[in-house]
Amino acid sequence: MTSLRIQERFVSVQGEGALVGAPSSFVRVSGCNLRCVWCDTPRTSWAPEGRAVELDELVRWCAAGPRHVVLTGGEPMLLSPAAELSQRLRSAGHHLTVETAGTVWCEGLEADLISISPKLSHSTPWDRAAALGKPKLATMHEAARLDLELLARLIERFADGWQLKFVVRTRAPELLTADLDEIDAIVTALELPTSARDRVLLMPEGTDDATLRAGYLAAIDACRTRGYRLGLRLHIHLFGHTPGT
Ligand code: SF4
Repeated sequence: MTSLRIQERFVSVQGEGALVGAPSSFVRVSGCNLRCVWCDTPRTSWAPEGRAVELDELVRWCAAGPRHVVLTGGEPMLLSPAAELSQRLRSAGHHLTVETAGTVWCEGLEADLISISPKLSHSTPWDRAAALGKPKLATMHEAARLDLELLARLIERFADGWQLKFVVRTRAPELLTADLDEIDAIVTALELPTSARDRVLLMPEGTDDATLRAGYLAAIDACRTRGYRLGLRLHIHLFGHTPGT
C-alpha cells in the first residue's frame, strides 16, 4: 500500500491565489527541503510531524468533500507518491491545485493549477540557523531556494494553469523595493509575456488583519505599474493565523 506522510487535512476555502474563496479539501504533506525563516507551516519544515496515510484513504476522504483539492505542504513535490495521488484525484473528477516552492521536479505529477511560491533572498534563515547551531540549514536553503530552469520547466509543463506567488516585505519601502527588484529579475529571466503578469502575485507578509491591510496598500502601486496581481490571504482575515484553516 502506498502512503504519504500527512501533517494535517481539513476542508476550508482557498485563502490565496487565483482561486481565493473556492471551497477546498486541503491535504498538507510533511517534509520540506527548504527552511524559510518565516515559514507559516513550521510543523512541516522546521519541526516536521505527521503520520503516514494510505492513498486509498486520502482519495476516499477527498471524494466526500468539495470538487477542489489542494495538495500542499511542506513540499509535496519531494514525495513520489504525490504523483499517483494527483493522478487518482484528477481521474476522480477533482480540480487539483498543487502548492510548491518550485525547487523540485516530481515525475508524473498532474495538476489543474500549479501554484508556485519561489523564495526570495529574505527567506534565508541566516540568524535563526546560526542561533540553533545549524548554520548549514541556511546555506542549504540559500543554495536551493531558487532554480530558474526548474521554474521555466514547471511553467511550460503546466502552461494552462500556473501562478507565481511571492511573499513581499511591506513594512518598509526600501524592503519592498528590494523584493520587487528580485521579482522583476525573475520575471525577466523567465521571459514571461506582459499578458501573463496577472499570474504573478505579490502577497504581503503578515499574519493579522492590520498588518495585511497595510501591506496590501503598500503593494498596490507595484500592481498598478507592473501589472502584477495583489495576493490576498483570506484565511487570515477569516480565521486568524490558525492551523487547519
Ligand atoms: S517552502 Fe514552504 S513549507 Fe518549506 S520552509 Fe518555506 S514556507 Fe515552509
